[in-house]
Amino acid sequence: MSSAAPSNPAVKNHTLPSYLNADALGPWGIYLQQVDRVTPYLGSLARWVETLKRPKRALVVDVPIEMDNGTIAHFEGYRVQHNMSRGPGKGGVRFHQDVTLSEVMALSAWMSVKNAAVNVPYGGAKGGIRVDPRTLSRSELERVTRRYTSEINFIIGPNKDIPAPDVNTNEQVMAWMMDTYSMNSGSTATGVVTGKPISLGGSLGRREATGRGVFVVGSEAARNLGLEIRGARVAVQGFGNVGAVAAKLFHEAGAKVVAVQDHRTALYNPAGLDVPAMMEYASHSGTIEGFQGETISAEQFWHVDCEILIPAALEGQITAQNAPHIKARMVIEGANGPTTPEADDILRERNILVAPDVIANAGGVTVSYFEWVQDFSSFFWTEEEINQRLVRIMQEAFRAIWQVAQDNKVTLRTAAFIVACTRILQAREMRGLYP
Ligand code: GLU
Repeated sequence: MSSAAPSNPAVKNHTLPSYLNADALGPWGIYLQQVDRVTPYLGSLARWVETLKRPKRALVVDVPIEMDNGTIAHFEGYRVQHNMSRGPGKGGVRFHQDVTLSEVMALSAWMSVKNAAVNVPYGGAKGGIRVDPRTLSRSELERVTRRYTSEINFIIGPNKDIPAPDVNTNEQVMAWMMDTYSMNSGSTATGVVTGKPISLGGSLGRREATGRGVFVVGSEAARNLGLEIRGARVAVQGFGNVGAVAAKLFHEAGAKVVAVQDHRTALYNPAGLDVPAMMEYASHSGTIEGFQGETISAEQFWHVDCEILIPAALEGQITAQNAPHIKARMVIEGANGPTTPEADDILRERNILVAPDVIANAGGVTVSYFEWVQDFSSFFWTEEEINQRLVRIMQEAFRAIWQVAQDNKVTLRTAAFIVACTRILQAREMRGLYP
């Protein structure tokens, strides 16, 4: 559909508070456009659509720590709870030097949509600290994490809002968050975060879950297009927890991973890169730079001949500039928000299928949900059970969204938003406004 969305008579005009206005098209502006695109399909529920255009609660905190050299450093931290109509807030915490409030707002909103799209009983939330963790020592990182957790302590909790890993955070960071929250509340509360180490109530399969979900959705989408995974050429942007696992699973299924880009370089090998060896290499060096393969530029990466393209890094990567050159038949969004609305339109015109983030990368939060359920019941499942349930939920969610896309002749992104926003706004309407 065109970017000018048809109007829905159930929507009244509201003026947004200034901090919610998206003048430059950053992630929050992109999200607002996505909401505008779904509004015509929400029927009378569109009366509530404004609720999606503003976060329920946004907390900005100062995170001061003493550095190893004795100086005091201040970092800016955020936790945004976008919507809690369907359950407690849920979403990761990102440590990155470029994190902004508006970015965290968008990421929290995409969590609301994602959690509703796969029907896990959560609202959406997200957190972040504006810091490059690579510049911190291990003990500085621990102090930043613990001080941040203390600052947001009063709005998180197993029944309130449950953080998890995201860009540059991991099981160790989750263990520190869980410990800090537990020390503040006087009892061990494993269910306050997910993505924990297995020894602290973490779930088997959680570490690989997002990449596995990308593979499941990619396989479903490929089947619908009549594309064989065996022999298909795959290009992956990002070689972290999502990109590397997705690359490994496609490689194991017989696909050829021909290009990988990380934060330092991009490598190309038309015969297929040795993904397991590259994972081993990156686990020591922290990058794929120096691994065998032809080095290509960041721009050339988007022009690579492939059938499946997986952006699995940050937002705003596929743009009006590079979308006309993409050769893939489908884009599977491992990252959150990697494609701008303009690029979405170009890809659609060029008949390139986009499996959107809110379904394609929902495997992580789905197994987070399993982890939370296991923590509450103190009864732990086998990895096989977890993976089976994950595959079933992802397949069912993808098939339902595919059907909605066919019925309404819309993109999979708009279809996912139709399914998710309907669920969120139905809950909103049933609960009613308080007071
Ligand atoms: N950070 C992941 C995401 O963006 C996982 C969130 C979670 O498990 O709560 O979906």
